[in-house]
Amino acid sequence: MCGILGFVSYEPVAARLVASADRLQSRGEHSTGVSTFDGQFFWDHAGLGSASQVFHHYDLSQLRGTVGIAHTRYATTGGGTPERLLRNRQPVGSDRPGLRTCANGDLVNLQAARKALMEKGYTFQTEVDSKVIQDILIERMFEQKVLEARDNADYVARMFRAVEGVHRDLVGAYSVLTITERGLLAFKDPNGIRPCSIAFREKPGDMFHPKEVAFASESSVFNYFGDYHDIRELEPGEAVFVERDTLKVHTARMSRAKGAFCFFEFVYFARPDSKFKGRVVESARRDLGRMLAREYRDERSRVDVVLGVPGTGVSAGISMAHEWGLPFEYGIIKVGSKRSFQETSQEKREKAIDEKFLFIKEFIEGKRVAVVDDSNVRGTTARKLARKLFDLGAKEVHLFYFCPAVIGPCFYGIDTPDESKLVAVGRTNEQIREWTGATSVNYISIPGLIEGLGLPKDELCLACVTRDYPTSVKEAQDRVALRNAERDTCAEWPK
Ligand code: SF4
Repeated sequence: MCGILGFVSYEPVAARLVASADRLQSRGEHSTGVSTFDGQFFWDHAGLGSASQVFHHYDLSQLRGTVGIAHTRYATTGGGTPERLLRNRQPVGSDRPGLRTCANGDLVNLQAARKALMEKGYTFQTEVDSKVIQDILIERMFEQKVLEARDNADYVARMFRAVEGVHRDLVGAYSVLTITERGLLAFKDPNGIRPCSIAFREKPGDMFHPKEVAFASESSVFNYFGDYHDIRELEPGEAVFVERDTLKVHTARMSRAKGAFCFFEFVYFARPDSKFKGRVVESARRDLGRMLAREYRDERSRVDVVLGVPGTGVSAGISMAHEWGLPFEYGIIKVGSKRSFQETSQEKREKAIDEKFLFIKEFIEGKRVAVVDDSNVRGTTARKLARKLFDLGAKEVHLFYFCPAVIGPCFYGIDTPDESKLVAVGRTNEQIREWTGATSVNYISIPGLIEGLGLPKDELCLACVTRDYPTSVKEAQDRVALRNAERDTCAEWPK
């Protein structure tokens, strides 16, 4: 889970990139990096932490050029120590051909692809998937003789054939942005698992000739600036090339798949004002709360008040309370902006839960409370919450989730590749309830999830709740072994 951003403009792009990275820090803040291109040189700056830390004393005029990309990183592998995190910052680069690349997502066949590249003489000073994606792209660019193109149209046609080659070679989830000598290339994997939107900013009075074309993991970024239009999610397998000098946009779709967009973006990851596949995340969360209330209407009589776990659970909790005709109380308040999944160890994750919530005792004491949260992945928050609410005098604690029980590991960039860490694997609902100490534990059903999202089931990835994966996962165990081996040697990683 990371954030990617790209701008091609008639104006310098560095300031917009840094402001946008700040907006996408919710997707990861282990490191933040920006690369720009001025037609002759690449300019790079990256470091550990958030955009505000990395660019606090930095003179943005050093990042020259009207095309650029930025990356906010959550490390699923290649972390654990500051040295490793620094080595694995993005964007990654190449000098021949000159490229800068950043990506979001994980490759299932990372190990095999890296081995094949090493046999061809590629070397790796970084462990990130983006480097493998970039090197495979370079291989395919040479195969298609992209650098010998006669003109821009020929260049783009060859480049798109190179992307088709990348699709053949790589298995997994990847949304990618690459600066080339002639412009900015964006592409998604054939199933379009991870998000990436495109948007346009026009020249005043000239809506047919944009003055900027932008890409972002989440459209929340475009809302922040406010003056973008024609915002849309890239299609599964789509490639887009924006010429640096003219801002001319070329697009092609290299996959006929209906796609497998990660439903978890709606449930947990994305910012509420982001929009994917025509659906605003906040509205989806409210509808999921309503579905949950309908599926558990018989439980209504066991509840006095509904609470929501900030931030996602509040939207769903309010809908649920409304549907049930019960009061909703802001009995749990979040302080600070850190999300517990971004913590690097189980101990820190548990501590973050203690530190990030305030509880209003008067809204809880003596009541039978229903608490709505997005998901119950490792069970850490559930257990802590139940204990805390009983300590504050709750008579009963009923936990409700608008994500079904997570029973499958994610190999596509969410940090849950190891099923032994999933609380719902190998446990009945009653065992989960017992383990958490709650009065009841209730999950939305899969049909309820689909209906609440309001999107076709065959356009979504639901693998972590169905174990029906949109790609081959034959090589996934190699990746899990790599991750576990790395974590065994780094005390800071969640085990
Ligand atoms: Fe998203 Fe789950 Fe699919 Fe991973 S397995 S991409 S978290 S829906």
